[in-house]
Amino acid sequence: MSAYKRILLAVDLSEESDQLIDKTCEIAERNNAELSLIHVIEPLSFAYGGDVPMDLTTIQEQLDDHARVKLDSFAARLSHPVTHKFIVSGHTESEIHRHCDEHSIDLVIVGSHGRHGLSLLLGSTANGVLHGAHCDVLAIRVQPIK
Ligand code: AMP
Repeated sequence: MSAYKRILLAVDLSEESDQLIDKTCEIAERNNAELSLIHVIEPLSFAYGGDVPMDLTTIQEQLDDHARVKLDSFAARLSHPVTHKFIVSGHTESEIHRHCDEHSIDLVIVGSHGRHGLSLLLGSTANGVLHGAHCDVLAIRVQPIK
């Protein structure tokens, strides 16, 4: 019996994300699991609120399009088939939690730098995903790309 049926890999689409590929595919392969990808876009309005006297819609759409292209290209580098690719908008950790609950994910995989303050062990997002997740969380250590 497989330990994991539905695995979700959270990617920030930085160059470092490639370091998550090999282990994720190996785990998905070994468990014969469905593998999905998620990328969360934090809306510009979160950062700028009503302070910017311009319509951010077009810039936001361009960011979404760019993320879609990058996620497709990332998925193409995986040796295990990708069942779904999700681009969602909101707060990163909350959206990952919500997605895991709604899609019955049993393992969520994130990258971990261990360079942020408290998080000598886990990066800030990895830490946030771990706290509040209702499924297993695997934090894969990534090396910063200089
Ligand atoms: P951080 O702690 O922000 O450096 O990110 C560590 C890991 O969290 C990344 O390798 C991803 O697995 C995940 N992550 C960070 N930002 C996002 C995002 N916007 N969408 C999806 N996953 C993310």
